[in-house]
Amino acid sequence: MRIDILTIFPNMFTGVLNESIIKRAIQNNHLEINIIDFRTYSKNKHFKVDDYPYGGGQGMVLTPEPIYSAVRDIEGWEKATKVMMSPQGNKYSQSDAKRYSHKEHLVFLCGHYEGFDERIRDLVDEEMSIGDYVLTGGELASMVIVDSVVRLLDGVLGNELSHEEDSFSDGLLEGPQYTRPVVFEGMEVPKVLLSGHHKNINLFRKKESLKRTYLRRPDLLTGLNDEENILLEEIKLEIKYDKNLDK
Ligand code: SAM
Repeated sequence: MRIDILTIFPNMFTGVLNESIIKRAIQNNHLEINIIDFRTYSKNKHFKVDDYPYGGGQGMVLTPEPIYSAVRDIEGWEKATKVMMSPQGNKYSQSDAKRYSHKEHLVFLCGHYEGFDERIRDLVDEEMSIGDYVLTGGELASMVIVDSVVRLLDGVLGNELSHEEDSFSDGLLEGPQYTRPVVFEGMEVPKVLLSGHHKNINLFRKKESLKRTYLRRPDLLTGLNDEENILLEEIKLEIKYDKNLDK
């Protein structure tokens, strides 16, 4: 996969691209990432890339020329999926991460100040938001997206890590996880996880995952299969029973 990121703050990416899994993915040629400072495409003698908004108002708006020039200078830009970072975009989710992980070439446009001149929207295929809040720039948002996409690329997570059981991968939140010691300050690891009985362990994990999703994100409980629906009914009865005990 190739990713190009347009920004006027290229140094913001240094840490993220030079640590941990993304660094390894680049080293192992799973990924090529280019950070493009679109300020260098400005024709202004002071390399300005923003200007006052027509009609008045606060803040500065990113001008179209340097961004159009920077994108058109990317090899294969026409075929690439071009994504504008924007709080007005579709809300990013794990299904977008999966979708992007199958693309050959992604281009992310990071805004700043008051955002983009409207005509820059004609250049992109999608607008993506990482949540209903406003950041100072698109850099952090693009890093969030890149991180979540790269870990889904084949071969990027070694054997020690898997994304298939992560929260949202099967539509549910992941259940609780435990490691050593078996007892910590009186809190014990559930016995079934120590039993070595894989069928029971899988059933326990599925039930805990359903329970956690039911308690924290019931909106995700759509499209359950018959077995999951039966487990969910059991969970609801158990929760009701526990509440009655507490009374
Ligand atoms: N005036 C713009 C508006 O009201 O929609 C907000 C501009 S914001 C201060 C500057 C830039 O940060 C945006 O152009 C976008 O690239 C990025 N940004 C801010 N919040 C974001 C979010 N939630 N998701 C993705 N990008 C965001």
